[in-house]
Amino acid sequence: MEEEKCPKCGSTLSEVIETPTGRKLQRCSKGVWNTETHKTEGCDYVKWLEIEPEVLDEKCPKCGEPLVLQVTRFGKKMKKCSAGGWDKEEKKATGCDYVEWINGTTEKLDEKCPKCGEPLVLYTTANGKKMKKCSTSGWDREAKQATGCDYIEWLKVEYKSAPNGEEFLPPEDIF
Ligand SMILES: [Zn+2]
Ligand SMILES: [Zn+2]
Ligand SMILES: [Zn+2]
Repeated sequence: MEEEKCPKCGSTLSEVIETPTGRKLQRCSKGVWNTETHKTEGCDYVKWLEIEPEVLDEKCPKCGEPLVLQVTRFGKKMKKCSAGGWDKEEKKATGCDYVEWINGTTEKLDEKCPKCGEPLVLYTTANGKKMKKCSTSGWDREAKQATGCDYIEWLKVEYKSAPNGEEFLPPEDIF
């Protein structure tokens, strides 16, 4: 593979850096992240790498083609049909349009709710945050209000520090 050059200044690009959300990028080797000023010094070119979708062992309920797991640029996950595509010129979806967003998972815990004594569940959100909540809690879609017990305990997530200043990178487009 030919070595890629920065389109802004012609320097070589850095090694691939993986962000805490699993995304990959390369910076211009002439760019340096200054942790004190929170600014890039030198060339600010950043190249985001496409994340290869993972083919799942599941079939599309609409057309029977395999589903793929895709992670958006914001770390949200979805399953979509491999027969689906996007026509950039016509700006419309082509093929099968089946999409299923993955919203997080719940896991039963061997602990009781301190408020009502019912079991607690561990809820992991789509972007990896965890909380313990009461298994009796729910959401009434019609009344648009929470039902059951409202006990929630957020678990501390150990934030990996981002020495490359990921949180200050330029905004990105949604695909
Ligand atoms: Zn550059
Ligand atoms: Zn399909
Ligand atoms: Zn409870």
